Amino acid sequence: MTGKTTRFALTITGLLCLAGHAHAGKLADLLGSQGLKDAGTTAMTGLTLTDAQVIELGAKSVAQMDQDNPVASADNAYAKRLAKLASGMEREDGLKLNFKVYLVKDVNAFAVPDGSVRVFAGLMDLMPDDAELLSVIGHEIGHVKYGHSKEHYRAAYLSRAARKGVAAIGGTVGKLASSDIGAIGEAAVNAKFSRANETQADEYGVDFLRRHNLDPNAAVRGMQKLAAQDGKAKTSFLDDHPASQERVSHLQKYIARKK
Ligand SMILES: [Zn+2]
Repeated sequence: MTGKTTRFALTITGLLCLAGHAHAGKLADLLGSQGLKDAGTTAMTGLTLTDAQVIELGAKSVAQMDQDNPVASADNAYAKRLAKLASGMEREDGLKLNFKVYLVKDVNAFAVPDGSVRVFAGLMDLMPDDAELLSVIGHEIGHVKYGHSKEHYRAAYLSRAARKGVAAIGGTVGKLASSDIGAIGEAAVNAKFSRANETQADEYGVDFLRRHNLDPNAAVRGMQKLAAQDGKAKTSFLDDHPASQERVSHLQKYIARKK
C-alpha cells in the first residue's frame, strides 16, 4: 500500500485537480513562455494532432504509467471495489472507459483522453463512501468528456516537439519513442486545469451522480474532504486562494439550481 517508488508516483505531488489551484496553471504550465512561442511556430508548420492521434497518444502513455505503477490485481480489495462501482460504465456518456487502481497512498485520480481512469488507493481510503468517490471519478471523466485532457496532451506534445524538434520525436504519434511518450504523458497528467475547466468538471461530477441515481450532495462532501486534506498537507493554495471553499459553494448552488 505504500507503493513502490515509481517515476509516476514520485512526480505527481499533492492533489491533482481536485482542490485548490485557482492560480496559474493551464497551458502556460506545460509550455513556459518560450515553449509557447516555439509551440506556436511548430503549430504553424502544420503539426497538430487529430482527435484520434490524441486518443492514441493517451492510450500509449497510460500503458506506460500502468507499467510504472503498482496496479491492483483483479483480486485486490481496492480493485474489487472499483470494479463494482464502475460496472456498467464501460460506455459512459459516449465515452469508452476503463478503470484501474494504483496502490499508491496519494490522494489522487486522473483520466486520460482514451478514457482510461486511474484511481489511487489513497483517495479510496479517504472516501469509503462510494458516492463521494464516484463524484471524483465523475469529475475526472468530465475532463475527458469536455476535451480538457485532450488539450493538455496536445500542448504537452507540441512542447516536446518544440524542444526536441519535430524530426527528433518522429513527427507522428505512431513513431514516438517511449521516452517521449512518457514525458508527454507525465507533463499532461501533471498540468493544472484552468479554473473554468475545473468548474465544468465539478458540475459534470454532479450530473454524473444524478445520472447514476446517487445523492448529488456527495460531490459537496467529497470536495470538503479534499479541501481538508489540502489544508493538512499544507500545500500552498489554501492560505491565499480560498479556491476549495469557492468550489464547494459553487457545487451547492449548482445542485440547488438543478433540483
Ligand atoms: Zn479537475
